[in-house]
Amino acid sequence: MVNFVGAGPGAVDLITVRGRKLIEEADCIIYAGSLVNPEILAWKKDCCEVYDSSRMSLPEVIAQMEKAERDGKMTVRLHTGDPSVYGAIREQMDALDERKIPYAVCPGVSSFCAAAAALQMEYTLPGISQSVIITRGAGRTPVPERESVRSFAAHRAVMVLFLSSGMAGRMAEELMAGGYSAETPCAMVFRASWPDEKIVRTTVEKLEQAAADAGITRQALIVVGDAVAQKDYDFSKLYDPAFTTGYRKGTSS
Ligand code: SAH
Repeated sequence: MVNFVGAGPGAVDLITVRGRKLIEEADCIIYAGSLVNPEILAWKKDCCEVYDSSRMSLPEVIAQMEKAERDGKMTVRLHTGDPSVYGAIREQMDALDERKIPYAVCPGVSSFCAAAAALQMEYTLPGISQSVIITRGAGRTPVPERESVRSFAAHRAVMVLFLSSGMAGRMAEELMAGGYSAETPCAMVFRASWPDEKIVRTTVEKLEQAAADAGITRQALIVVGDAVAQKDYDFSKLYDPAFTTGYRKGTSS
């Protein structure tokens, strides 16, 4: 059995209770050493084997899972944040299906949630934006043209850019060419929830310079949109004293 586990954004106590339990039970752990906090490994059994996937190819990862399965062992495949977001888990699950190795997925706290927490921000501010676009700039991994940052920018919703802090200048150009004004508030969150977390608040126009000044080129998210300012929003209907909900009678009815 293989358990894909979301390790959370970095802070060890941001893994789920279920994820921690699976780590305690694992006979073999394959973790993404580039971003998963190695302190999480302190919970493993003494006899548990540990492999760092940042030094392994897909066939090597699968071969290790296959070997553990043959020996009747439980493998935890530890991914950063939530495994479904840029986690490359489909290719692993398909390889396991081919080999008839059972698996399950345990979700995790994605870094885009940890970034909102760091910014003390509500992404879905009434009256400002009710949508969060999660995407990335095209790099060595291409992005379909219909999903370009420029085309999504036309919505001027909140946008969270993964894997793009090393191309902040190009991202700013795309964001402005697509529809955000130069003054649109924008933030970079480096290593959200880690002890060395860094927050940079700026505007789209000044994004490249702000990233350079802070020395941020990787392990960061770019958050763009009017909602980043957290101002001039409408109050929620749900908690409006006048508003009747399925759970509460409002004063206006
Ligand atoms: N599955 C992960 C994302 C993996 S892709 C998740 O759900 O968060 C790796 C990218 O995620 C990094 O390049 C960076 O853009 C972002 N990232 C991961 N952890 C981060 C953190 N703690 N703070 C800021 N960005 C992070």
